[in-house]
Amino acid sequence: MNKGRLYVFSGPSGVGKDTVLSLLLSRSDLTKSVSATTRAPREGETDGVDYYFVTKEQFETLIREGGMLEYTVYAGNYYGTPKAPVEAWLSEGKDVILKIEVDGGAQIKTLMPESIGIFILPPSKEELERRLRMRGTDSEEAVQKRLAAALNELSCAERYDYRVVNDDLDLCVDEILAILKKNKKKSR
Ligand code: 5GP
Repeated sequence: MNKGRLYVFSGPSGVGKDTVLSLLLSRSDLTKSVSATTRAPREGETDGVDYYFVTKEQFETLIREGGMLEYTVYAGNYYGTPKAPVEAWLSEGKDVILKIEVDGGAQIKTLMPESIGIFILPPSKEELERRLRMRGTDSEEAVQKRLAAALNELSCAERYDYRVVNDDLDLCVDEILAILKKNKKKSR
């Protein structure tokens, strides 16, 4: 049986990644990996669905035992992709998608050069700033911090195999579906 393909899905905070991904999952047969994190659950998040919420000690044990495909520290918390389920899905021929930040994306590309990176871009930097400001009641300082982090993520877009602009949601998802189709056709 052919092995499944591994997709890495990244983009700056505020670009609408979650909305794009949930529509994409409903319109494809991709399997989404559930990451582990040491950050606290947000309201409405479920353990085992949104993340595996673990302690720092549990996370560090997983790292030591070689249980993480990749991991990083982001905003003071560990985030990582549990290795075993991803390897099992790929060997069953399932296509898997990881929603991870750019540092983890770079680790995956080094480890598995055949993985396919998709980076979601905002229509413009101004629009990204507008979307980040819309998110809540953050102080100007907090907005500037998030904007700086987002601009740093944007500077990594070139490392990805595909860059897709999220201006119109449906068009963005259609474009990603076309990428999946193209890669399915490629013989391996
Ligand atoms: P949030 O706390 O907002 O859910 O996620 C913060 C950032 O961590 C996002 O950019 C998200 O894509 C990234 N992230 C989530 N899971 C993982 C993971 O397993 N590995 C890495 N490297 N980043 C992750």
